[in-house]
Amino acid sequence: MVKSIPGWFYILIGAIVSAASYLISYEKMILFFYAGVIFMGVGVAKIILGKVLPEVSQPSSLQQPIRLTPLQIQQRSILHRIEATQKAQAPPFQHAPQHKPLSTTNLVCANCQARLHPSFSYCPRCGQKLAIRK
Ligand SMILES: [Zn+2]
Repeated sequence: MVKSIPGWFYILIGAIVSAASYLISYEKMILFFYAGVIFMGVGVAKIILGKVLPEVSQPSSLQQPIRLTPLQIQQRSILHRIEATQKAQAPPFQHAPQHKPLSTTNLVCANCQARLHPSFSYCPRCGQKLAIRK
């Protein structure tokens, strides 16, 4: 059957054919009368199926690939950023050095202003004996 023809059209045609054949001559036109009745039955069936089939055919629409809405994508990206920042921030705190390396910038030779290491007892540049700092 042609799907483009709606059910109410079958009922209309069937009603017209049945009414016309009944008015003209029920006995002579009985085949047309029943043909009209059949048409009306087909129209009713099409309307009923048309209401039932969409519910049956819905699962096919659910089989479409799941696409994330822009909001969901945004939320996921935010979660990834939070995780990334947490991972990036955590290690420095865990591995923070408890003892700072000895600095050579604070200690300067009183004679030649050369930068000295605290363990030096004499200035490597000018030979000045350094005061022991504790
Ligand atoms: Zn010096």
